[in-house]
Amino acid sequence: MKTIGLIGGMSWESTVGYYRAINQGVKTALGGLHSAKIALYSVDFDPIEKLQQQGDWHASGEVLADAARKVELAGAECILICTNTMHKVAEQVERVVSIPLLHIADATAEALLKNGVKRVGLLGTAFTMEQDFYKGRLAEGYGLEVLIPNQEDRKIVHDVIYQELCLGRVEASSKAEYLRIIDELCRSGAEAVILGCTEIGLLVSADDTSTPLYDTTQIHAAKAVEFSLS
Ligand code: GLU
Repeated sequence: MKTIGLIGGMSWESTVGYYRAINQGVKTALGGLHSAKIALYSVDFDPIEKLQQQGDWHASGEVLADAARKVELAGAECILICTNTMHKVAEQVERVVSIPLLHIADATAEALLKNGVKRVGLLGTAFTMEQDFYKGRLAEGYGLEVLIPNQEDRKIVHDVIYQELCLGRVEASSKAEYLRIIDELCRSGAEAVILGCTEIGLLVSADDTSTPLYDTTQIHAAKAVEFSLS
């Protein structure tokens, strides 16, 4: 079994989900008392979030690159950035390590294509929904057509992530709003919806809607397990 490197804490509420899903995946595959070999570096999210707001992605990339170096030194054989948004600095992180970075958008696109999905809705932070580092990778790298909510709804989705989910708050009213927005994406032609923020799975799940949901935390964690056991 190979050691999985995680850069977590963004937010820690979702890193808990990674830890659980990866260990569960290894247990399912190997049985008994087996559990995953993990090196986790969990950052303080507050300064990272401030740098996001200031648009200083390079500085936040330095923090993650430093974490990646430490995770590699701890024996990790691959690296995962446990957030969609911070994949904006994935290349900066990749440059400082010699182990492979398992990209969350690649894992998600592969899962969609495997199920024949071509047109997909995307929920996440405004950065993830609006910028090319994520949407562009899905479109240009994999030929997926990516639909996003209108501007007003993007603000709702974004604000719920930072003001509620990253703080561990799960509100019924926000869940209703997310389900309404998922419905609208479907009406616009989405065959499935990507939960493209690692906290959204805390709010909505497959049981809440008939729309197929692609939870990036679960998909990314499964990718790590596959790598570790390969
Ligand atoms: N965990 C979130 C994501 O997957 C948002 C927090 C962040 O800005 O990293 O995008």
